[in-house]
Amino acid sequence: MNEWILAPASLIVFALGASIGSFINVVVYRLPAGLSILYPPSRCPHCLNRLKAYDNVPVLGWLWLRGRCRYCKSRISPRYPIVEFATGLIFVLVFLIFKFSLQTVGYWLFCGWLLALSIIDLDTMTLPSILTKSGLVLGILFQIILAFITQSNWLASVNQLILAIAAAVLGLWMFDAIARIGTIVFRKDAMGAGDAKLAAMMGAWLGWKYLLLASFIACIAGVVVEGSTNLLAQKKIKRNQPFPFGPYLALGSAIALLGGEAILSSYLRFFFPGN
Ligand SMILES: [Zn+2]
Repeated sequence: MNEWILAPASLIVFALGASIGSFINVVVYRLPAGLSILYPPSRCPHCLNRLKAYDNVPVLGWLWLRGRCRYCKSRISPRYPIVEFATGLIFVLVFLIFKFSLQTVGYWLFCGWLLALSIIDLDTMTLPSILTKSGLVLGILFQIILAFITQSNWLASVNQLILAIAAAVLGLWMFDAIARIGTIVFRKDAMGAGDAKLAAMMGAWLGWKYLLLASFIACIAGVVVEGSTNLLAQKKIKRNQPFPFGPYLALGSAIALLGGEAILSSYLRFFFPGN
């Protein structure tokens, strides 16, 4: 592997990621509203003028328009360039870890799905099942193809198919159980059905080991972030106030995906020294 090619390749990967981020902006706006994702092309939500191609360049377009529409001068949310920039960054991170491989392409898809789901969950407190279900199917397909390419036999693919489905069922079952227990303890829906479907999708992509790690990280992050924002806002802590859990599951998945090996091996070294 020529290391010198990584720097210029990272630039191209960033541009690709930022463009996908631009598409994610469209998806998270139109999908919950029930609008078509492909038509019409990008336009200003206020004056409905179509965006010029050069204004539509990820991140840069927003910067040289100084965050305002070219025609009606209404403000364009900084969320657009932020999502584009973040997607570019995530793409580069995945690329630097998995280099030129099928994993890189697969995990770009997975992270794109996670990002779109997170934003929609933050906006609407729902996880559209069209995204979690298609993400699940993609994850299972990815595992089958990856096994076939790396081990070049169909038996390995079948084996991987069974493992991916088992991990998806584990995710579904685990979060269904948490929701049921939560409902009994808090006498209220503790977790949406969407979270269980997202966990199933995570299982297919991550496998059971990283699914458990990701869920664990999600719970810790959820408690820490929600607890401290409640403290900072000096709100009386409302025990039953719902909050979107999808972004934490996505964060846990990303950490497990990018650093799972390091986390698990240092965990094993800590608890089982000498192995
Ligand atoms: Zn406008």
